[in-house]
Amino acid sequence: MSASKISVVIPVYNEELVLEKLFERLMPVMEGMERDYEVILVDDGSRDSSLTIMRSHASQKVIVVELSRNYGQHAAVFAGFETCTGEIIVTLDADLQNPPEEIPHLVEVMETGEYEVVGSVRMMRQDTAFRKTASRVVNAFTRRITGVHLSDWGCMLRAYKRHVVEYMVASHEHSTFIPALATSFAKDIAEIEVKHEERFAGESKYSLSKLISLQFDLVTSFSDFPLKLMLYAGLLLAFLGMGFGTLLAVARLAFGAAWAAEGIFTLFAVLFFFVGAQFLAFGVMGEYVGRIYKEVKKRPAYTIRRIYP
Ligand code: UDP
Ligand code: MG
Repeated sequence: MSASKISVVIPVYNEELVLEKLFERLMPVMEGMERDYEVILVDDGSRDSSLTIMRSHASQKVIVVELSRNYGQHAAVFAGFETCTGEIIVTLDADLQNPPEEIPHLVEVMETGEYEVVGSVRMMRQDTAFRKTASRVVNAFTRRITGVHLSDWGCMLRAYKRHVVEYMVASHEHSTFIPALATSFAKDIAEIEVKHEERFAGESKYSLSKLISLQFDLVTSFSDFPLKLMLYAGLLLAFLGMGFGTLLAVARLAFGAAWAAEGIFTLFAVLFFFVGAQFLAFGVMGEYVGRIYKEVKKRPAYTIRRIYP
């Protein structure tokens, strides 16, 4: 077994219905690769029997990391990154939407092409139309923000070289988005097509509000575009306001005071517009200030309670 060691990192949050099936499919794949490997399951504060099930499988090859509460998928994967020891690290969802059988393909591409990151694109995605449309918007948006062309950001079935993972861990980022973060440390990125299946059991752990919050993390972690947008919008509004003011003054001179009194409601409308714009501006600024606050506190993004076995 001279080939480099593989670490598979899987975040788990209330997945008791799928875990047995996951082991059933994942372990033969890993054994079949005939090389050193480890599976790292990160329990992201599950409230069901997930942890018990995982612990019953804990061994030298199956390491269970227990977080002290629910920190979210990306924080959980980070905890796995910190714990893993492999040369190639593969991330995977627990719900079997990403078939474990694809892992050897990812590793193969990684090793033949000397890539640092191998992403994957979901063929025939088995999700609701709403989720698919949302993803399309997110993918287009992320491409613009990060300037990296990846077709499918949402797919967590990805492989990373050890140094990329180490850089990510060292960057100590809070509320981040791993596929995007990885691209800032990797030059050679490959993409392969993988199958996508329906969730084996249970429900998606992402509600609409959690999805929106993830998208927000993505935007504010990787770009200051909203801040710039605010500046441009502010400039535009100021010019419009000045123009409108001049127009009103000229009309007042031309048509007299009676006309101007009737314009008072227009003024109100303009005022509301500006007040609204100001609030928007403060809101965006507040978001970044909040992030600075979070970072300077240097509170850990997650805390590991125990590692089994
Ligand atoms: N997950 C997690 N913490 C969370 C939410 C999700 O560890 O707060 C895990 C979940 O157990 C699964 C993966 O992240 O392994 C993806 O979640 P899910 O399948 O619910 O997301 P979707 O496929 O709907 O995007
Ligand atoms: Mg899923």
